[in-house]
Amino acid sequence: MFSWSPPPPGPLDKLFQYIDAHQDEFVQVLKEWVAVESVSGQPVPRFRQELARMAAMAADQLQRLGAGVDVVDLGSQQLPDGQSLPLPPIILAELGNDPKKPTVCLYGHLDVQPALRGDGWLTDPFTLAEVDGKLYGRGTTDNKGPVLAWINAVSAFRALDQDLPVNVKFILEGMEEAGSVGLEELVRKEKDRFFSSVDYIVISDNLWISRRRPALTYGTRGNSYFTVEVKCRDQDFHSGTFGGILHEPMADLVALLGSLVDSSGHILIPGIYDQVAPITAEEIQKYKSIDLDLEEYRNSSQVEKFLFDTKEEILMHLWRYPSLSIHGIEGAFDEPGAKTVIPGCVTGKFSIRLVPHMNVSVVEKQVKQHLEAVFSKRNSSNQMAVSLVMGLQPWVAKTNDSQYLAAKRAIRTVFGVEPDMIQDGSTIPIAVTFQDIIDKSVMMLPLGAVDDGEHAQNEKINRWNYIEGSKLFAAFFLEVARLHASDARNLP
Ligand SMILES: [Zn+2]
Repeated sequence: MFSWSPPPPGPLDKLFQYIDAHQDEFVQVLKEWVAVESVSGQPVPRFRQELARMAAMAADQLQRLGAGVDVVDLGSQQLPDGQSLPLPPIILAELGNDPKKPTVCLYGHLDVQPALRGDGWLTDPFTLAEVDGKLYGRGTTDNKGPVLAWINAVSAFRALDQDLPVNVKFILEGMEEAGSVGLEELVRKEKDRFFSSVDYIVISDNLWISRRRPALTYGTRGNSYFTVEVKCRDQDFHSGTFGGILHEPMADLVALLGSLVDSSGHILIPGIYDQVAPITAEEIQKYKSIDLDLEEYRNSSQVEKFLFDTKEEILMHLWRYPSLSIHGIEGAFDEPGAKTVIPGCVTGKFSIRLVPHMNVSVVEKQVKQHLEAVFSKRNSSNQMAVSLVMGLQPWVAKTNDSQYLAAKRAIRTVFGVEPDMIQDGSTIPIAVTFQDIIDKSVMMLPLGAVDDGEHAQNEKINRWNYIEGSKLFAAFFLEVARLHASDARNLP
């Protein structure tokens, strides 16, 4: 552990006072942003116009802080139905280019999930409503609030005429909720230009694991998604005419899917656990200190009983062990009623969440070998074909990087607690994209509380999280500059 030294009280005190004094203005800007229906997932012209309007508003906001802003046009998107729609631009912005300062690049997105009042929202999703310190509205926590908190932090330095201790860059996209179309290509293209001076990349697009205790995220699981097709012929059969004389595709498929995982959640594919990083005593200690109320988690998920009974086991099976889920069967009879069909061709779908140090192509080989072995034992005359349709590597960061230490210090200063050091069981491809292409330290520094309901009805961010988060980001700028400077001094 490192020794704690309090930051110089002068500049931070003033910044915090400024942020407190201007919190209603910050909430007002969030209200204006939430009012823009920047939905990316539904490809309709009206939403694309809203996305363009949202990008223009963000660009304007950054320009007013003195940033150089590049609004990168991504052209248009060809949809399967032949229609063509404009893609929202990506904003690249930069404040300062002092070579003596570290450069922090902040990633965020301006698009939101769809939302309709009729879906069960208690207030209009695109009109920010404050109830008991909770700011309700689509995009408040995912991701407009956190993006604005970064902007608020910068604006506090600007308003007080305080030197920004770091160079700040922003990359803001508008297609995150729809697969980040065009992002990876742009990151690749800008690797040696916009990103060349970047030291740290920070993403504030996930949530804490608790309601009150801040978190730092240092890893996400990857994913490998498979289909397994079993085919007799293209047409279906009638079970009165053919039942009893066929190798039925569905029976083969159910046996194949049933061979993947046992009732305790253990994956049965030989070799699948071979590459999983060995567990250390230090790691187990980490899970112990995490603020997770298992009872509340179980109740809010409406699950009678999980596979595991302790917090440590639950966290390990969400974060550091692979999991296999069976998602569906295409071609199966899935309607009400009793149709006596024998499907002629069925396709099962399942995926494996990957953890360090698993590798997509090794897993692909293991899955194929396993399914072929199970299938050949059945002596079926059907055709079986296994395909990997999506492969995303897991992400894990080095938590002793300067920016993680800086974020821990900033969290201690603002919230007075140690952060939960967490991973995310989901797959967030952007972290791997940045880490692989730019090869710089990536950190996830979330702002939202566990009950914010991103993607759900009545999404909210607490005013407290939004305002204290703005302070956290201001403190982070100071801390990362200090640690970066002392790292530079310690170089041989
Ligand atoms: Zn998001």
